[in-house]
Amino acid sequence: MALSLYNSLTKQVQEVQPLDLGVVRMYACGPTVYSYAHIGNFRTFALSDFIVRTLKFNGYQVKFIMNITDVGHLTGDNQGDADTGEDRLELSASREGKSVKDIVSFYTKQFMTDYEKLNLIKPEKFTQATQYIKEQIDLIRRLKEKGYTYQIEDGVYFDTSKFKDYGHLSGFTEETIKEGARVEPNPQKKHPVDFALWKFSPPYSTRWQEWESPWGIGYPGWHVECSAMIFKELGEQIDIHVGGEDHKTIHHQNEIAQSESASGKKFSQFWAHCTFLQVDGGKMGKSEGNAYTLLDLESKRYLPAALRYFYMTGHYRKPLNFTWEALGNAQNSLKRLFEAVSAYNVSKDSTGRVSDDYVQKFERSINDDINMPKALSVTWDLVKSDLQEDVKVATLLKLDEVLGFGFDSLIGFEIPKEVGDLARTRWEYKKVGIWDKADFIRREVDKMGFSIEDSDGGYKVKKRF
Ligand code: AMP
Ligand code: ZN
Repeated sequence: MALSLYNSLTKQVQEVQPLDLGVVRMYACGPTVYSYAHIGNFRTFALSDFIVRTLKFNGYQVKFIMNITDVGHLTGDNQGDADTGEDRLELSASREGKSVKDIVSFYTKQFMTDYEKLNLIKPEKFTQATQYIKEQIDLIRRLKEKGYTYQIEDGVYFDTSKFKDYGHLSGFTEETIKEGARVEPNPQKKHPVDFALWKFSPPYSTRWQEWESPWGIGYPGWHVECSAMIFKELGEQIDIHVGGEDHKTIHHQNEIAQSESASGKKFSQFWAHCTFLQVDGGKMGKSEGNAYTLLDLESKRYLPAALRYFYMTGHYRKPLNFTWEALGNAQNSLKRLFEAVSAYNVSKDSTGRVSDDYVQKFERSINDDINMPKALSVTWDLVKSDLQEDVKVATLLKLDEVLGFGFDSLIGFEIPKEVGDLARTRWEYKKVGIWDKADFIRREVDKMGFSIEDSDGGYKVKKRF
């Protein structure tokens, strides 16, 4: 089977057919490590995880790269007033009284920890923008030689009027840009949508991070890093590029313009954009005080896997609204799933054959533009089905290649002897009608993290999660 994915470029759901047979080359824009990544950012990272896992489920090899932005992303870059404002990294360093290096290493480490806790598939490499300065300068030089650049007081810019396809992805025209801009664009720019490839360090001051270039001391613009790293690590043409919906209009449009102008080839076949996670029906943002992190969730005793489950409850092209209640519901469902899986009387080496029927239903769901809500419901149908337990276990392990809940560690779970003995004693009391003693034992077992469920003529002990 093959993955059908919505392509923002063509505005259609299309089958992914990689340029190289059997190998998909994919890139995802990663975090800017000036602060904690919030659960909105992680919705987008979870999308790239679902795509990679789905492709692997289909038998593809996936060459996957994600970057770490540690320079050049300006405060204005996401808001339609690109190339203005301050470098987020430099700003964060002065706010926290640390060096940029310390800021980068602290927030990168935190990001990696969260990434692992959410069981997101690691890319082949996390490429760090500052490790690719030479490649970025080379790319700018190529663009200059081809006549796509011009230099003004504060930097070297890309001349968007030279790229005939500019605005194809974003739907932007010069008119809409003028109307949408929140600040006057730099008057020296030839067109408002032109963007910085290299920015000069401000006169008479030093930045934490600056480099020599043929044009003067400075630092790369934000967009150029992604193209340069993709060229180096994956080649001039890739199959899928992933990012949040906010990047479509400026960042990704600019990546396309500079990459295709340099190479003369189509840059990415597919553009996949994740719709924003909202909070209480509105925007999630640091200034709104609702940009929750995974740490915030964990401090309220939510499991990282519950957030993973929560992401799957909505389709990535629809807004998903975060509330504590919705997260609580996701966690309850996940725990019920864990309980069911750990209660199967099957050991790891005695699992049965997978149910082709359920695997196919699941595969159809994920291949249908990453329909995770459907994939979850297929999983529940399987759990509730009357298939034999060993078949269920084998199939669940297969589905977990995409779900990533870690069923593996639950299979063949042994109820501790002490708990089993108590449950048996309770059953004896119950049989002869000594209810108070039976109830007392049930409560004791409950305190130990297990529950006893009675069912026609017998009982079952389950671990609670
Ligand atoms: P940044 O750290 O700002 O570079 O963003 C990292 C990624 O998170 C980018 O792909 C953004 O588009 C994405 N992103 C930012 N906010 C949200 C949100 N509320 N929901 C989903 N994705 C987001
Ligand atoms: Zn990018």
